[in-house]
Amino acid sequence: MSRKADAVIIGAGVIGAAIAYELTQKGYKTLNIDKLPASGYGPTSASCAIVRAHYSSWDGVAMAYEGFSYWKDWPEYLGVEDESGLAKYMNCGTLLLESGTGHHEKVLKHYRDIGVEFEEWTTEQLEERMPIFDTHAFYPPRRPDDPHFWDQSERQLPGAVYTPGSGYVNDPQLATHNLQRAAEAHGGEFLFRSIVSDVRRDNGRVKGVTLADGLQIDAPVVVNVAGPHSDIVNEMAGATEGMNVRTKPLRHEVHHVPAPPDFDYDANGIHCSDGDTGIYFRPESGNHILIGSEDPDCDERQWVDDPDHYDRHVTEKQWEAQVYRLARRIPSLPIPNQRKGVVDLYDCSDDWIPIYDKSDVDGWYMAIGTSGNQFKNAPVVGHVMAELIDRVENGHDHDADPVKVKCRYTGLDLDMGFYSRKREINPDSSFSVNG
Ligand SMILES: Cc1cc2nc3c(=O)[nH]c(=O)nc-3n(C[C@H](O)[C@H](O)[C@H](O)COP(=O)(O)OP(=O)(O)OC[C@H]3O[C@@H](n4cnc5c(N)ncnc54)[C@H](O)[C@@H]3O)c2cc1C
Repeated sequence: MSRKADAVIIGAGVIGAAIAYELTQKGYKTLNIDKLPASGYGPTSASCAIVRAHYSSWDGVAMAYEGFSYWKDWPEYLGVEDESGLAKYMNCGTLLLESGTGHHEKVLKHYRDIGVEFEEWTTEQLEERMPIFDTHAFYPPRRPDDPHFWDQSERQLPGAVYTPGSGYVNDPQLATHNLQRAAEAHGGEFLFRSIVSDVRRDNGRVKGVTLADGLQIDAPVVVNVAGPHSDIVNEMAGATEGMNVRTKPLRHEVHHVPAPPDFDYDANGIHCSDGDTGIYFRPESGNHILIGSEDPDCDERQWVDDPDHYDRHVTEKQWEAQVYRLARRIPSLPIPNQRKGVVDLYDCSDDWIPIYDKSDVDGWYMAIGTSGNQFKNAPVVGHVMAELIDRVENGHDHDADPVKVKCRYTGLDLDMGFYSRKREINPDSSFSVNG
């Protein structure tokens, strides 16, 4: 049995679906293949879906800032109905606490260059707007078994950077389904419960993929958007040759706790990036708070050898680390008896910056290494990857002369060479989820 497509996309997470939507608009007949039963069922479904612009590099900030507009313009961008409804952009703003990480200093320079709207808040303004916060500085982050974890602090945070345009998407899986419906409206197809088990090549060029059930799909273009399986899938295609940056799965926990009862965090909460204690947190429906980790040095990184087999349970140790860190920032936080949360994998690159690129195998492309921070950029990545693929397929030498893409909303020029597989490890990266 065989089938044909102009472009096969391995993976139907939010980025795989976004690439499909953009390629179909260029006239490509796309086919997304995913081993799971529906779009966005993998790591995308566990995403906190935070949309914020504080990255370490100009390119990172520019791409994320462009992303704000897609989420605000979601129904118009999609141009289709979805019987399940549309995901909503919750524009709660972001507080980047000024901390010993120095991340805010890098970020502010780029905000000024690019024109990201922001306000610098003093500690007094922070206390006024977020009266439940303890504004003492606790840096460096510690683990609860450190004897100094609960030490009183005499130091105050220097202040915070507030960006009013940021927020989060209320349902990351639904956002992916929305993109699927938009791609389908332009002729894209999706095949679920199907595992890509082989990549066929001929004379240095990809010919198509073979599924575990034997179905062969011929396609001159195949895009690896396999998330934490990205390196395995690249190996299948013989595409790791010539890559200076690689990817590997990293286990991560996100925890879910009730907010203090005397503060409506749903209505008045702000997403907060707290490098001072090593966490980030955002409002969640039902007056709850989601807590993720900013990967402080004291937390051991949990690299995973096999992305199909890892511990999917919330652990007592990491739950305590993240929840107690939040309790330092919000002392009135009720500590629940039950541990709730999700565990999933980041597809982490060596420098925590994605690889959006072609490969040394003609026709093989990749949108991988999203390092726990690219949900927000999915529609932008759809746009830039479709441009890159189309230009390379029409003869452009991207390795010699990197493709540049003009952003739809901000008009900024994104240089795709920044995301090259052949780059040197970027020393300016935060080497954390902040990118
Ligand atoms: C816990 C957590 C919190 C996060 N929080 C945020 C956040 O707040 N903000 C943000 O911007 N980003 C966040 N991210 C990152 C963001 O969710 C990801 O970057 C994004 O979802 C990646 O989408 P994707 O399309 O690349 O792939 P994924 O969602 O990883 O999907 C890949 C798909 O490929 C399929 N696949 C793999 N191999 C094969 C194969 N051989 N055959 C068929 N199918 C295959 C899988 O089944 C899977 O569905 C978070 C990630 C995690 C895990």
